[in-house]
This record gives sequence, C-alpha cells and structure tokens, in this order.
Amino acid sequence: MAVYNPKSLKAEEFINDGEILETIAYAEANKNNVALIDEILEKARPKKDGNGLVCNGLTHREASVLLACEIPEKIEEIYKIAEEIKLAFYGNRIVMFAPLYLSNYCVNGCVYCPYHFKNKHITRKKLTQEEVKAEVIALQDMGHKRLAIEAGEDPVNNPLEYILECIKTIYSINHKNGAIRRVNVNIAATTVEDYRKLKEAGIGTYILFQETYNKESYLKLHPTGPKHDYDYHTEAMDRAMEGGIDDVGLGVLFGLETYKYEFAGLIMHAEHLESVHGVGPHTISVPRLKRADDIDPDEFDNSLADDKFEKIIACIRLAVPYTGMIISTRENEKVRERVLRLGISQISGGSRTSVGGYTEEERPHDSEQFDVSDQRTLDEVVKWLMDNGHIPSFCTACYREGRTGDRFMSFCKSGQILNFCHPNALMTLAEYLVDYASVETKKTGFALIEKELEKIPRERTKEIAKEHIEDIKNSNARDFRF
Ligand code: SAM
Repeated sequence: MAVYNPKSLKAEEFINDGEILETIAYAEANKNNVALIDEILEKARPKKDGNGLVCNGLTHREASVLLACEIPEKIEEIYKIAEEIKLAFYGNRIVMFAPLYLSNYCVNGCVYCPYHFKNKHITRKKLTQEEVKAEVIALQDMGHKRLAIEAGEDPVNNPLEYILECIKTIYSINHKNGAIRRVNVNIAATTVEDYRKLKEAGIGTYILFQETYNKESYLKLHPTGPKHDYDYHTEAMDRAMEGGIDDVGLGVLFGLETYKYEFAGLIMHAEHLESVHGVGPHTISVPRLKRADDIDPDEFDNSLADDKFEKIIACIRLAVPYTGMIISTRENEKVRERVLRLGISQISGGSRTSVGGYTEEERPHDSEQFDVSDQRTLDEVVKWLMDNGHIPSFCTACYREGRTGDRFMSFCKSGQILNFCHPNALMTLAEYLVDYASVETKKTGFALIEKELEKIPRERTKEIAKEHIEDIKNSNARDFRF
C-alpha cells in the first residue's frame, strides 16, 4: 500500500487514495463542527500585512471540511470570503482567451471524449499551416490576444514537431493591429525533453487536465492508448517543471467521479507542486462533462448540480488564493455570471471547439469537441462583463516580463497588482475597443476605463497609463505594458 507523501514524485504517493478517503471521512465527520469550520474560515480570510492583503490558503483536509459543510450561513460565509479573495488579488479584472483546435486525430480510447479513436462518424481534421494562419487571423479580427491550443494525442498525425510548427506560425502573424501574445498549450502528457522544446517555443501555461484523480476509475475511463497510463499522466506536471515550464494548469473533468474525491485530489496536487517545486499551479480549470458526438453525459453517474459546482469553485478560491481559475464556454451565461464573483479570473469568449471552426461562416458541429453552452460573440461577452462590473483584460504582460512561476506568486503577494495588472488591463481593453468593438461596447468601455484609471494608486503610473490610452486612440501604437 502506497503511503501518502506530498513530496514524493510517485503519483500514488502524492495523490494517495488512502489519504483522499480519510480526508472525505474527516470532512464528513466534521461537517457540522461549527468551531472547526469557523477556525478554517478565519484561516482562509485575507489579512493585512505591511504590503497589503495576504492569504494563507487551506490544506486539502481543511478545504474538504468546508466543501462538506451544508450549514447555509457557513456556505454564505465561504462565498463571502471567496469574493473578498477574488477582489483582493484579481480585482474586477477578467482575462480573456479562446481555444484553438489544431487537430482531432487521437489514438486514445477516452470513453467521455468524442475524439476517441473508435468514433468513426466524427470528421477528422488537422489544420495545415495555411489553415492555422487563417484561424489566427479570424481570432485576431475578433480581438483575441491569448490562445489555448488543443489537440488530440496522435504521434503520427500530431507529433510534437507539428505542435511546435503551429506555435511558430501563430506567433508570426500580425494582421492589422492584431497579435497573439500568449499561447497556452493543452496537449497530452509528454517527456521532459518535449516540455523543454515547448518552453523554448515560448509557450505560456502548459495545461493538462487530470480528468479524474481516482486511479481505478481513471483506468476504466481511459481503457486504451498512451493516456491509459495513470502514473505517467499524473506525474506530467513534475516533468513539465523539470523541463523548465513554471506555469502549469491543473483541472479535472467534473462529472466523471464523485466531486469530493476530485476536489481533495486537486488540492493535494497543488500542495505537491508547491512542496516539490516551490510554486503551485498557475491556473486551475473546472470543466464539466458535456454532450458531444458519440457522448451522452447522462451515461455517467456523477453529474454535478450548479450549486455544488459553485461551492467547489468558492472552496478552491479559499484553498489556493494565488492560483488563477478558468471557466470555459462549456458553461452557460447564468452559471458564468455567478462563478465570476466566486473566484474565476479567466474566461473564454466567442469559442468554437471544432477544428477550423473560426473560419466557417456558421458554427460547425461535425468536428466539435463538446457542445458550447455560451454561444455569444466576443463583443457580446465583453459588453456583458462590463455591464456586470468586470474589466475584460487582454493582458499578457506577466509572462512576457518574466513574471512567471514563483516570481509571479511573489508579485501577487507583494501588493503591486493595482500598479501593474490594473493599468495593463485597461490599456489592453482600450486596444480591443479601438480595434474591434461595436459602437455600444466602445461607449461602455471607455466610460469604464475613465472610472477605473482613478484606482491606480501610484500617480506617475496613472499618468503614463492615460498617455498610452490616448496613443492607442490616436495612432496604431499598441502593446504598452508595465
Ligand atoms: N488530448 C489532450 C489530453 O489528452 O489531455 C488534451 C486536449 S482535449 C482536446 C481537452 C480536454 O477536453 C480534455 O482534457 C477533457 O477534459 C475535455 N473533454 C473531453 N471530452 C469532453 C466532454 N465530452 N465534455 C467536456 N469536456 C471534455
């Protein structure tokens, strides 16, 4: 029997089944223990120190107690603290991105994914470099600056060399005032050497969803193909970090296993990265299983209701306050609106999940990875965010200024965000408004920018930001950043 050890590099020791089961039992036994719950809430609350606010975060056991708690006033308190943390470290900024599907060729047999190799009715497609270029131009014309590239796993059709070539193409295109300034990568687990090549290609975050932390379920859900290897998949982030990638993105596919198990596993994974590499995950994604070609979510037993989903997001916010949280267009407008307040810091907009989808007039369905619930255009999403008091941000400054990994974390903790992220968000929003927005969105946006500029604490920074925004309005000068 494997023994729990967060510092171990062996999957079954840092994601330890025994420890997860004990955590769930401990959480269940303490879910009405008001004194303990209050103590945990107190620990999670942002506190003042010399530079501003700081947060302690929570252990997987503490966070699991909050997740198990069903006392309405305590749940309200969890949500309140989640909002406080969100505002303290992310303000009202929401970073925008879009997925770009490169290829849906796949040799794996994942039973929940339409790309599984036995699916004979899905149209298989792989973009040529000319097609990548056309997709990127379409994305730039929408206003996107940050992409997450996605591909199935197929060493013959989509080898790493193909992915690297696509990244090079993406970064090389400047259409009108457009540019993709950060490419995040969501591809199958690979070797240290390959991660090193991805790092050299200038990627932002390496994203890999665990799908499920429960090994027994994992083996059944991934019956064939390289992804069947649970240990190799679970240890991928350690290899990525060894290869020099210090921004990694975790996630589970909610709906496959029981959410309490996944939640404990996810927080343990974050603790493991922190204790081995000195830096936790840069982001956590919270995808839920969706209907797709050949996939009926009702065939899976663990579908997650919206209220539980919201609670998970709030509890993640309390447990790992310095980790960004991402929500995709798998979720509809209503759910997205609610969870933005509870800690989400990045969302996709105007997404198409089919290979080559952005250059099609109509949303194509034949090669889609999942049904998109939020089908609004990027302009509609941007306007909606602003109407709800958020600042849509197209900023990519941190990683381009070398603020990644532990440097990003200490930057977050130093209280400098209002002097950096806030003006960067406003300047990139101004770029979006001038180059791509509709008349209505532009009007709302510039009124918001004017108001939000006043929140920049350092006078000189405020002045410079104002000058840059005037330059953006009156010329083709772009890409200002602090
Ligand atoms: N092939 C890569 C891998 O093996 O990790 C990642 C790319 S895959 C295109 C991205 C993610 O989509 C998967 O990790 C999975 O969590 C998610 N996904 C697959 N099927 C889904 C479905 N039916 N509904 C929602 N998300 C799904």
